[in-house]
Amino acid sequence: MNEVLSAPDSEPFASILITHAHDDHIGGVQPLLDELKRKFPSEPLPKVYKWNPDTKAKTYTYHGILMENIEDGQLFEADGVKLKAMRAPGHTCDHMFFIVEVRKC
Ligand SMILES: [Zn+2]
Repeated sequence: MNEVLSAPDSEPFASILITHAHDDHIGGVQPLLDELKRKFPSEPLPKVYKWNPDTKAKTYTYHGILMENIEDGQLFEADGVKLKAMRAPGHTCDHMFFIVEVRKC
């Protein structure tokens, strides 16, 4: 994370997508938000997206972080890359994966 953010051409970004709530996936979110706030103080912080199967609310707080609840099939697009969120409980109850849409020539 620090290598990416310390690159001279690094830019703020709009979204963080979380696959599930295990610490190795979500534990770096707050430090990342803190670093983005330090490096880009005039830019809005990215929205953090994670499915919460325990609520139908659009937003909720998890470990002090405001989360956007992900709908099954929700589409995300950034820098020409499209992702489709798919709920896949199993590894954890809140697990999901993101399918990358590949453009055919
Ligand atoms: Zn895990």
